Amino acid sequence: MNNFKNVWIFAQVQRGRLSPTALELLTAGRKLADSLKEKLCAVLVGYHVEPFVKDLVEHGADVIYVCDAPLLENYVDDVYARVLADLVAQYKPNKFLLPATNLGRSLSAKTAVFVGTGLTADATEVTIHEPDGQLYATRPTFGGNLMATITCKRTRPEMCSLRPMSYEKALAKPGRTGEVIHFAFDAKRHVSAARFIEFIKSGAEGIDLAEAEIIVAGGRGVGKPEGFVLLQKLADRLGGAVAASRAAVDNGWIDYRYQIGLTGRTVKPKLYIACGISGQIQHMAGMSGSDVIVAINKDPQAPIMKAANFAVEGDLYEVIPAMLEELK
Ligand SMILES: Cc1cc2nc3c(=O)[nH]c(=O)nc-3n(C[C@H](O)[C@H](O)[C@H](O)COP(=O)(O)OP(=O)(O)OC[C@H]3O[C@@H](n4cnc5c(N)ncnc54)[C@H](O)[C@@H]3O)c2cc1C
Repeated sequence: MNNFKNVWIFAQVQRGRLSPTALELLTAGRKLADSLKEKLCAVLVGYHVEPFVKDLVEHGADVIYVCDAPLLENYVDDVYARVLADLVAQYKPNKFLLPATNLGRSLSAKTAVFVGTGLTADATEVTIHEPDGQLYATRPTFGGNLMATITCKRTRPEMCSLRPMSYEKALAKPGRTGEVIHFAFDAKRHVSAARFIEFIKSGAEGIDLAEAEIIVAGGRGVGKPEGFVLLQKLADRLGGAVAASRAAVDNGWIDYRYQIGLTGRTVKPKLYIACGISGQIQHMAGMSGSDVIVAINKDPQAPIMKAANFAVEGDLYEVIPAMLEELK
C-alpha cells in the first residue's frame, strides 16, 4: 500500500464545460494533499479537454492527467471507468475524489469495481486521519438521521464521491504552473457494450439549481401545485431558480430534482427566499450556507424565521404579489 501516492480529483467535463465541482474537489483535495505532504492531481477525460488544463493548474492542481480522444466526446460510463481504472493501475494514487453528480456517482462506482477498491459514496466531508494517513469520509446515513465516518483500511486508492457544494471553489492563482501527463486512449481496451446514441437535455427548464445565485423555494405553505407558478414568476423576475422542500415534493406539487435538503440537493446561493417553509433541520441542511436568507411565513415562531436574515410575517399569496409589484 505504500506504493500509492498523491491525491487525485476527477475534473468532470460535459458538453464542453468544466463542472464547478472540479474546483470544489480541488479545495477538498488540497487539504488532503497538504496533510499527507503529497501532490494534488486532476484527471481530465474527454475530447478537446486540453484547454481546461490551465484552469485546473491555476486553481491548485500540481499534475494533470489528460486522456483526450474523439471517442471520448460523449460520456459512456464503462469506457470512462476503464480509462480511470487503467490510469489508477499505472500511476497508483493514494486517494481519489470524484463529484457526487449523476455522472460522478455512476463513474465512481464502476471505477471502484474495476480497480477493486472501496468507495464512500455521497460524502459531505473528507479528512486525513493523521496517525495512519487514512481517508475519513463523512456522509449522512440511515435516511439522514446519523452521520457516519467511513474508512477503507485494506485497499488503495481510497475512493470517495463528494456531494456538490460541500466545499467552496478553489481560488485561482494566475500564472501558477503544473505538470501535464498525457495518457493514450486505447480503443481496443476501453470498450463498452453500451453505445452513445443521442444527448437529450433534461426537462428541467431554466437555471441549474447548483449554479443559481438566487433561489425561490416553496414548501407545504404553498398549498397547491399552481402556487409554484407564482414562485416561478418571482424567480424569473429576479433571474433565479425555483426549488422546494420535501413536503412540497411529497405532495406531488413539484419534481424531486428541485428538493433542497438532506435527502435533496445542497445549494449555496447569494439569496434564498423560503416561502411557506418551516425550516426543519433536514431542509436547513441543504441551504443554510446561503449568503442571505429571506423567509416568508404566516407563523412568526417557525424556526426559519429565526434563521433568516429577513423574516417576513405574512401570507405568501399576499407577500409575493406585493414583491412582484414592487420589482416592476
Ligand atoms: C430522514 C429525513 C430526511 C429529510 N430530508 C428532507 C429534505 O431533504 N428536504 C426537506 O425539505 N425536508 C426533508 N425532510 C422533512 C423535514 O423534516 C420536514 O418535514 C419538511 O422540511 C417540512 O417541509 P415544509 O417546511 O415545507 O412544511 P411544514 O413543516 O409543514 O411547514 C409549512 C410552513 O408553511 C407556513 N405556511 C402555511 N401557509 C402559508 C402561507 N399561505 N403563507 C406563508 N406561510 C405559510 C406554515 O406556517 C409552516 O411554517 C426529511 C425528513 C427526514 C426524517
